[in-house]
Amino acid sequence: MIIFFRGKMKKTLILILISGLMPWFHSCDKNENLNLFSTEDDLTLGHQVAQQIASDPATFPILDRNDYAEAYAYMNQLVDRILNSGEVVYRDEFVWDVHIINDDSILNAFAAPGGYIYVYTGLIKYLDAEDHFVGILGHEIAHADLRHASRQLQAQYGISFLLSLLIGGDPGALEQIAGQIAGTLTGLKYSREYEREADARSVRYLAETVYACNGAAGFFSKIESEGKCNANIVWLSTHPDPCQRIESINEMAAEIQCSTDDLDPPSYRDFIALLP
Ligand SMILES: [Zn+2]
Repeated sequence: MIIFFRGKMKKTLILILISGLMPWFHSCDKNENLNLFSTEDDLTLGHQVAQQIASDPATFPILDRNDYAEAYAYMNQLVDRILNSGEVVYRDEFVWDVHIINDDSILNAFAAPGGYIYVYTGLIKYLDAEDHFVGILGHEIAHADLRHASRQLQAQYGISFLLSLLIGGDPGALEQIAGQIAGTLTGLKYSREYEREADARSVRYLAETVYACNGAAGFFSKIESEGKCNANIVWLSTHPDPCQRIESINEMAAEIQCSTDDLDPPSYRDFIALLP
């Protein structure tokens, strides 16, 4: 990890010095957002997080792909529909590796950089329709595709601080940062702006599929119907204002005039029946 960061970042630094700070960022980042990390950095960081998760089955009991091949095949089909929407910026660069974590008590999903995504059985079983599940998958795919983790990391530490680490060559500080990222990603709390961005992107992805484009609102609608807008639910702790978000997601759908007709095929119930 340390070697990777030092090597990659030094290369980045040299490029900046050669070509000047702003023009280089703008020409190289597809989202036109200032991001000191390369897409390869996102992939490596995500891979490291995935390895940490895989090495801790007590905390993250991941459903085996071979034992639950049918469930994974179904889910990957939904993921592919999003990836083929024509709206995923890093469709070909990132891994888009989605895992199911077997814990019915946890209503959560999260995305590590580079397209490593995790969904808990608790959340899958709580949702009522395929559209709603695809909406959440879209939201998590959006966090990775918009590179929110590395952007947040940069905002947290500051560009000048990250550059000073490189110039100073302080491997201890870099190691500390790398450890913090891996340790906090599962409960990573994004800004409201990033959450709004991920919601909006989910609507855009689903607009180009067979699904109701406001599918991401389905989870929040159920929470609202159960009077749990302020409940202590894991996904809600990292996704604030659940009940206001129904309105904003629906506004985004109205803005781009995409279909909000529920598809909800019975296959979603069949999928749930495949899970332990
Ligand atoms: Zn989110």
